[in-house]
Amino acid sequence: AKGAGRDAARFYEPAIEQLVQQRLLLEQQLRHALQAGELSLHYQPRVRADGHGVVGVEALLRWHNAVLGEVPPAAFIPVAEETGLIRPIGAWVIEQACAQLAAWARQGLTGFGVSVNLSSVQLSEPGLVEHVRSCIAASGIAAHALEIEITESLLMDNAPQADQQLAALKGLGVGLAIDDFGTGYSSLAYLKRFSIDKLKIDQSFVRDMLTDPTDLAIVRAIVALAHTLGLQVVAEGVETGHQAAQLASMACDELQGYCFARPMPAVQLERWLRTRGA
Ligand code: C2E
Ligand code: CA
Ligand code: CA
Ligand code: CA
Repeated sequence: AKGAGRDAARFYEPAIEQLVQQRLLLEQQLRHALQAGELSLHYQPRVRADGHGVVGVEALLRWHNAVLGEVPPAAFIPVAEETGLIRPIGAWVIEQACAQLAAWARQGLTGFGVSVNLSSVQLSEPGLVEHVRSCIAASGIAAHALEIEITESLLMDNAPQADQQLAALKGLGVGLAIDDFGTGYSSLAYLKRFSIDKLKIDQSFVRDMLTDPTDLAIVRAIVALAHTLGLQVVAEGVETGHQAAQLASMACDELQGYCFARPMPAVQLERWLRTRGA
């Protein structure tokens, strides 16, 4: 066994071996993250482009681990999806987000909803709709105050189940938004097939829209498309007042980005809302 181990080891470059070790460590730590209370949600406001009312807040996962430190979602969400850990984690996100919105309402912070990101792995899970229904019921929030963000590639990956699950979610009364719109490799056919409420323009287009005429044209086209179809449209990654003004002049409905606020813990968001007179 010892000799075989040495032989096998020769096939790996040290750098690759290191990556494998890192990935294993991350996976190992992630297995306990939920029960260890290492996961939390940060919330980023979305504001109305015409005035400055807060339409909703997006729940974004944060993971602080004793060994690995702060691990960004881009690093651990893919691992959570591959290992299936996204099922319990994603279920917790929905429950937590609904409970938090209800807690805010009890504190008098009302008039806005909460959105959660849904992984394709969750969408293929039979218990999803029942879980969403019970989270809404248990928290007492209005169904339309919950919005589910899905990605274009997600819709295409799971077309058969996605049809049913999304229709059932829609039936509960929750809102459906397409995230990262414009970056997927799908056709526009699903806009007809699924009852979507909202498009979120991917931040890559927003980032360069003032310097790159192509990006500006794409943003314009998405806003026009959304409105033609009777959908709301959100721009994300709005970092400057210039971008915000341009987007408002294009009749984009909602804006989200560092220009207004970064994602923050619930307590900090409460302060942010109160100083804005919400
Ligand atoms: P996303 O859903 O597209 O979320 C927006 C990301 O852009 C967030 O990154 C947010 O912090 C960041 N952002 C917001 N405003 C700005 C801005 O003005 N400039 C720039 N440069 N970035 C901005 P974050 O929190 O690191 O999340 C990354 C991705 O991880 C999310 O992208 C989403 O796909 C995924 N994710 C986060 N939480 C969850 C979750 O609970 N479930 C699932 N399935 N995925 C999640
Ligand atoms: Ca999102
Ligand atoms: Ca996005
Ligand atoms: Ca994204």
